[in-house]
Amino acid sequence: MSVFTYGNVVLKKRGICIGCGVFGAINFDNQPVFSYMYWGLRAQNHRGHQSHGFMTYNEGTFYSYKNLDLVPKLKPSAIQDWFKKLPGPIGIANVRYTTSGKCDDASIVQGTQPMTAEADGMKIAVSFNGNIVNTQQLLQEALQQFPDFKYTCDSDLVCSKLLIELKSGKDFASAVKTTMLSLDGAFSVIGITGNGELFAFKDPHGIKPLCAGHSPDAKTFVFSSETVSLDINGFQRDFELEPGELVTIIKDGFKRQRLIEKPRKAFCAFEFAYFARPDSRFDGKYVYEIREAFGRNIVKEFPEIAKDADIVLSVPETGDDPAMGVHEASGLRWERASRRHRYVTERAFILLNSERYSTIDRKVNILDNKVAGKSVIITEDSIVRGDTTKIVIEKLRRAGAKKVYMFVTFPRIIGPCFYGIDMSTYGQLIGSKHSDEEIAKIIGADAVCYQSIDGLVKATGCTKDELCLGCITGKYPTPLAQKVANEMKQKVLHGYVEKGRIYEEDNGT
Ligand code: SF4
Repeated sequence: MSVFTYGNVVLKKRGICIGCGVFGAINFDNQPVFSYMYWGLRAQNHRGHQSHGFMTYNEGTFYSYKNLDLVPKLKPSAIQDWFKKLPGPIGIANVRYTTSGKCDDASIVQGTQPMTAEADGMKIAVSFNGNIVNTQQLLQEALQQFPDFKYTCDSDLVCSKLLIELKSGKDFASAVKTTMLSLDGAFSVIGITGNGELFAFKDPHGIKPLCAGHSPDAKTFVFSSETVSLDINGFQRDFELEPGELVTIIKDGFKRQRLIEKPRKAFCAFEFAYFARPDSRFDGKYVYEIREAFGRNIVKEFPEIAKDADIVLSVPETGDDPAMGVHEASGLRWERASRRHRYVTERAFILLNSERYSTIDRKVNILDNKVAGKSVIITEDSIVRGDTTKIVIEKLRRAGAKKVYMFVTFPRIIGPCFYGIDMSTYGQLIGSKHSDEEIAKIIGADAVCYQSIDGLVKATGCTKDELCLGCITGKYPTPLAQKVANEMKQKVLHGYVEKGRIYEEDNGT
């Protein structure tokens, strides 16, 4: 159904995969948007470093570039060449890490977004962040309509569903509405129509972030996963898309259409603790402020442990802001005793299992003169498998720490995520099988102190009903995810060993 280029090679299809950071721009003076996309994407490389992709639209033609790894550094002199490779006043871009499908290089390359699809003279391009749970059902429908359809990525399913609905004669908004209602999962989508219109929409639960903004001269309008990509371009943030909302850009600004009646907002709580950059804002509030409040909360929830400690330090960088909060609430000195190697840029959480240990070992260095003989609190955003935390604690012990207390801002993770965060089986989650005390023993800490769910919710400024807390409560916002989670949990309790990501097992999804 579609074609994309990798370097100079033209490939006919891709590998299954998910994008985690999206950006899109349109300029109404017919100026190229590549430089906005480039800086916008680099600003959110933390959302996915396995691959990156750009697609522009110029006078009816799509241009695309995709490659592995981080968005590369470009010399200013090279920008003009890139304008030639990716011309046009409209573009979308994507950085990703794999949460479904294969993780080998070839599959990652094949799954790199943005994607395009074409049928009956209609064309559409999409950059997608999220994860679709009911893939089998959508795949069957796509195959009925397009016999040569090959499912290699959830974006393919979004593209094909949109085309099916457009082919049936629906207008664009109705096609998007039917698509929204047909997909179970999380999806923040930015796309370009075959007529060169930029659009964006969010799933009816608004699980993934997606905001809109514009340039000071009001000639360029953009969509982005995070506000940092607006800041780096000197743009103003206008609004966060609402759940179930479609936004198109017209010359005077944004056209907003609420397509779903009474959507139930369920924004991913893990964005606040780990995923988003601390200098991004959600609904006007900086993420770093929320993380500081997390640190203050844990001190209030575990006063005796705070009293027993001599210093606080953090697992950089997502532990830094909570450490400030712990310092403020306890009066303990925040020692910068765990230093991060600036040029080991991978985020441990989004690494493959085989790479995680060595990367965290190389990435974090402990200053033994700061911790020797001391009882230390170390702040961490979350414990998923427990392996990276264990390495840090081992390093602290080797440096002579007397006691190590873990202050963890994200409550104990007891279930998988279905929505694009790669913790996708019960088996891999230390928190699904063990109590807090057992986890402390396994990772070598004197105590593990998780922030409470109520504390986390309050600090975000949201209500419980406005957040997805699926992985920490077992209550998921979408029906199919809930069904698969319930069934798999029962199977695991009876000794079943998951074969892979539970939404990819044969469960009728
Ligand atoms: S299940 Fe957890 S990680 Fe996944 S979207 Fe919900 S809160 Fe975020």
